[in-house]
Amino acid sequence: MSKVTEIFGSYVFNDSVMKDRLPKATYKALKKTIQEGTSLSPEVADVVASAMKDWAVENGATHFTHWFQPLTGITAEKHDSFISPTSDGKVILEFSGKELIKGEPDASSFPSGGLRATFEARGYTAWDCTSPAFLKDGSLCIPTAFCSYNGEALDKKTPLLRSMEALSKQALRVLRALGNTTTQRVITTVGPEQEYFLIDKKMYDARKDLIFTGRTLFGAKPSKGQELEDHYFGTIKERVSEFMKEVDEELWKLGISAKTKHNEVAPAQHELAPIFTTTNIATDHNQLTMEVMKKVALRHDLYCLLHEKPFAGVNGSGKHNNWSMGTDDGVNLLEPGKSPHENQQFLLFLCAVIEAVDEYADLLRMSAANAGNDHRLGANEAPPAIISIFLGDQLTDILEQIENGPATSSKSSSKLTIGVNTLPALPKDATDRNRTSPFAFTGNKFEFRMVPSSASIAACNFTLNTIVAEVLSGIADRLEKASDLDAEIQTILNEIVKSHKRIIFNGNGYSDEWVAEAEKRGLPNIKSTVEATKSLIAEKNLAVMEKHGVLSRVEMESRYEIMLENYNKTINIEALTTLEIAKRQILPAVIKFATSLAGSINTINATGISVDLSAQTELLTEVSTLTSSLKKKIAVLEEAVAKADNFEGDAYELGMIYRFEVFEKMNELREDADKLETIVDSEFWPLPTYGDMLFNV
Ligand code: ADP
Ligand code: MG
Repeated sequence: MSKVTEIFGSYVFNDSVMKDRLPKATYKALKKTIQEGTSLSPEVADVVASAMKDWAVENGATHFTHWFQPLTGITAEKHDSFISPTSDGKVILEFSGKELIKGEPDASSFPSGGLRATFEARGYTAWDCTSPAFLKDGSLCIPTAFCSYNGEALDKKTPLLRSMEALSKQALRVLRALGNTTTQRVITTVGPEQEYFLIDKKMYDARKDLIFTGRTLFGAKPSKGQELEDHYFGTIKERVSEFMKEVDEELWKLGISAKTKHNEVAPAQHELAPIFTTTNIATDHNQLTMEVMKKVALRHDLYCLLHEKPFAGVNGSGKHNNWSMGTDDGVNLLEPGKSPHENQQFLLFLCAVIEAVDEYADLLRMSAANAGNDHRLGANEAPPAIISIFLGDQLTDILEQIENGPATSSKSSSKLTIGVNTLPALPKDATDRNRTSPFAFTGNKFEFRMVPSSASIAACNFTLNTIVAEVLSGIADRLEKASDLDAEIQTILNEIVKSHKRIIFNGNGYSDEWVAEAEKRGLPNIKSTVEATKSLIAEKNLAVMEKHGVLSRVEMESRYEIMLENYNKTINIEALTTLEIAKRQILPAVIKFATSLAGSINTINATGISVDLSAQTELLTEVSTLTSSLKKKIAVLEEAVAKADNFEGDAYELGMIYRFEVFEKMNELREDADKLETIVDSEFWPLPTYGDMLFNV
């Protein structure tokens, strides 16, 4: 491997390249735009574009593309070459400021949720200069926002950028009221931990369900699963390690600071975490990370599964979205410091998050919803569907003090003694970890653990930014008017703790007792994506998004439509794939097996020797009974699919049919097929098994 320090960022038009290649005045103007959000003049854009093109061409690029994030959840690109013909039949390479700033991809085939009629195909992409351009496959990629002819957001990036502005504005008001005169911007930061599965490409190719839906729709529990807990942090196998090294290298070239890699809980499951950065860039980087992982896996004859639940019965994958707020002068606003009880600024920002999460739990839950995540959230696995906050002993104690008057002490952290003199004494953290909380305070940031592994992290972050901005704006209103600042701060903290302490829970989030307790506390427990979508059109949520200019009512409603449409299509594809595999692969295979059993019985009978044929006959009976049941369930699922197909009500009602009829029938059908898998001769079974897939890399 080449030297890490040399390759890091070598594919990125980053600050040092800009400094090197742009005239001083242009560099300054561009920096001002990036840092202060001022608009960029066409002349400056022309100079930047030309420098970008020269740099890209020197590094082997022939094309450029606006790189954007439509509401499909993945990224989109359309490549144009730099060539421009000259009168003498040759070409020169050109790239103008206009081409850099604005693109006009035909938008008609991207989801818009009614924001744009299909005949109004215009969509625009607009350069987001706060996220650096980069090189990929011979193209200069320019991160852009994507909007409709009327300026409505058709993507994930636009609301994210808007929400970052909103949070900065309100947080600054609070800081000013507290006497801070130096901070110019408050920035939200994110470090997403990405979980994924790696399986052999040959296994993937042999499974239509993985190809069409990203998850296995059939598969009996293997003899060994994750019960020995021997995979988590285990030694990384050589083939996987080679893959990980190459992923790291590719990511480093793209300026993505891939930092941590390890085996996860389930067999064949792994994780990659970068060092945190500005939310917008972290979001772009996470999209690229997923793309790079998929691409590099293929080079190793592996397939990278990003689905939330590729395998039933073993852990699914998520993304832990580590989130914090920091000032442009380097202060993490969620850093408690040595004596958090005296740190009014920290307590205000902490309580703002607590109130926001409690007040808008439904919206936050929605931001982590997709069809794949329905298999995880609330399904006795990784975070429950109920949002609660883990604070740990120290902060919980301080909040309890605040509830009864000003806090006067912080439980201190101690030294950890291991009992072996040669080992160093370790400083002990003020609180232990809690792995079952969906929203956990982890020292100087919150870790939102519900986020789906395959999804963009834009939605959860623009939601978080906006709801926290809303609470901060209320706090700022009060602080700005306060005659006795300290007293007002105490009152605010006290009120927030009193009204929102119900969201704090430090116990086991996976337990049944918690479900009952949460219900008593009045916390929402929204079990499915379909039900979660309602929060997108709830009045209080429409109002908060509108107030902070993050998403208009129309934009929210369009997202509601798109979510449902996407869910419905996903389940429909899963159902059709289930039927295809059941009818064309599993049924024929079990019939062949039954025939071979019958043949064996006949052949043995024909010898005239009297032997005990009960094994064959019992097996044949069992197989035939299950086969006939499977056949009936195929018919039942077909009926449910047809009902959904012919349904003429609205998208929400259709979603309920998909969730509670089609999806349920799929599961019932699967039960028979999975039982058959365990008794049919493996030579006959048409699909690689869980054992094959999970233990063969
Ligand atoms: P864990 O022990 O939770 O698995 P990891 O080290 O895998 O922790 O990941 C923690 C993530 O949190 C990293 O991406 C790290 O960069 C990120 N992080 C640390 N500090 C902050 C912060 N202030 N804001 C956002 N993310 C942060
Ligand atoms: Mg981790």
